[in-house]
Amino acid sequence: MLEWTFLGTSAGSPSRTRNVSSLALRLPQRSEWWLFDCGEGTQHQLLRMPHLRLSQLTRIFVTHLHGDHFYGLPGLLASRGLALGGESNVTIHGPDGLGRWLNMTLRMTGNRPAYPIVNDVIAPGWSLSEYGFKVDVCPTEHRTESYAYRIREADNPGAFDIEKAIADGLPSGRLFGQLKAGEVVTLPDGRVIDGSDYVGETKRGRMTVYTGDTRPSDAIVSFATGADLLIHEATFHSSEQAQAEKSAHSTSLEAANVALRACVKELVLTHFSSRYDADTAHPGIDGLLRNAHTVFPNTRLATDFQRFSIQRPDSI
Ligand SMILES: [Zn+2]
Ligand SMILES: [Zn+2]
Repeated sequence: MLEWTFLGTSAGSPSRTRNVSSLALRLPQRSEWWLFDCGEGTQHQLLRMPHLRLSQLTRIFVTHLHGDHFYGLPGLLASRGLALGGESNVTIHGPDGLGRWLNMTLRMTGNRPAYPIVNDVIAPGWSLSEYGFKVDVCPTEHRTESYAYRIREADNPGAFDIEKAIADGLPSGRLFGQLKAGEVVTLPDGRVIDGSDYVGETKRGRMTVYTGDTRPSDAIVSFATGADLLIHEATFHSSEQAQAEKSAHSTSLEAANVALRACVKELVLTHFSSRYDADTAHPGIDGLLRNAHTVFPNTRLATDFQRFSIQRPDSI
């Protein structure tokens, strides 16, 4: 199962119902999981999510160095050292400066976890491949160096129909390998066999883009094109367009336009200003959703502790 869990969906500061940014990805058929952003209090949120054990966290990807996206790191890493089995490496990917900040913080507080922490600096063009997934980045338009992450699963080639091959009287051995690779082969008896007749359809890999903080941009549209899931920030309602532009964030309407232009399957909005959670707030959090629905109907608002699994798309 490829599953996202929202651990924090508030922008800037927490509200009574939402913590600051944090998002977990559980990998299919692995006991490992990855974390995207780590706002303050992420470790508290994890206490309510027993399927995400700290000892099994192996990678942390940080979008940018605003506190609501990474102030949770020192506490979480320290607790991981105390967690049962928390002895394996953790690699932290983030913009330049994150590693220095973290090392200094841990050193000055005499809190160096016993397991290795690897710092990896993200820059344009950066990518990582592991377990059949490729992660890459796209710079976003924000007030500081900031990146969106794209997580793409490799396509899964179709299975070779060995029973059909045997039933058709094809000789096994090297020929089967050639047919499996989709080759067209001429047999000694003159028959021409097309491998594609014996191989099932390729299953397209799943793709998610998580924007972090950003203004809507053409670069994000092209980066997210064809994604199964786009997780886009929506700090503001469109009635606060000027505020969104000034602070280099997006409105839910703008995020919906990005989803529409990028032809994604589903849009999940997150990173909401805490003003929309207040009882007296206008227009309220539902207003952000109504706004987005006018442009892109397949939109949902993330809530803390919500889990989204992505099914494998239909065959190519
Ligand atoms: Zn933020
Ligand atoms: Zn920010």
